[in-house]
Amino acid sequence: MSIASDIARTVTGIREQVSALHAELVRYGLVAWTAGNVSARVPGQHLMVIKPSGVSYADLTPASMIVCDLDGAMVDGELAPSSDTAAHAYVYRHLRRVGGIVHTHSTYACAWAARGEPVPCVLTAMADEFGAEIPIGPFALIGDDSIGRGIVDTLTSHRSPAVLMRNHGVFAIGPDARAAVKAAVMCEDVARTIHISRQLGEPIAIAGDDIDRLYERYQSSYGQR
Ligand SMILES: [Zn+2]
Repeated sequence: MSIASDIARTVTGIREQVSALHAELVRYGLVAWTAGNVSARVPGQHLMVIKPSGVSYADLTPASMIVCDLDGAMVDGELAPSSDTAAHAYVYRHLRRVGGIVHTHSTYACAWAARGEPVPCVLTAMADEFGAEIPIGPFALIGDDSIGRGIVDTLTSHRSPAVLMRNHGVFAIGPDARAAVKAAVMCEDVARTIHISRQLGEPIAIAGDDIDRLYERYQSSYGQR
C-alpha cells in the first residue's frame, strides 16, 4: 500500500526524524540490543511512524521506519512494526497532546520499576522537568491494550512526561518525538542519581509548593524563547 501523495512529504520528514532519534537512545546508553523504540504522530493524520521490530540500532534507516495507523495496523513499510506498536497507538488515540513516545528498558529506571517504587522528586532538576515524582504504572502484559491503557491512566492525571510501568520499563511522552526522547534521557538521569543518593541515606523531599514554582518557571521561561 502507498500513502496519499499530499502527506508523503510530511511522512518522509518524520521517518528521518524518528530514525535519527533512535541514535540518541544509543548515545545516552538507554538501550541494549534491539530493545526500546521511538514513535511520532503524523500531525493531522490518523498515522504514526515507529521503529521496525527486532532491527539493530546500527541498521535503522529512514526507509526502514514503519508507518502505522492509530489502531496499530501497518500502512507503509517493508518490515513488521515494533511489538510495542499497540501501546503507542493507544496513547496517541487517547492523549491528543502527545506527538511523540519513547519506550526504553534503561537500567536505573527499570531498577525502580522492578520494585514498583516511584522515583521521588528530590532534585530541583527533576522538579523542573517532571514537576512531580515519576509515577509507577500497573503491571501489564504485551499483546492487547493493557500497556497503553496503563500509560494513559497513569499520565492523564499527572504532570510527569514519563511513567515507569511496573516490572517493565519507561514510557515517555512529549509534544513531539524529540521532547519524548529528552524525557526518557532525563528519567534515567534522575533515576540513577536518586538511586545513588539512597545508598547513603534518605533523600530530602522538596516541598510541594517549591516543586510547583520550579516546574512553572522552567516550563514557561527556560531556554531560548
Ligand atoms: Zn519493553
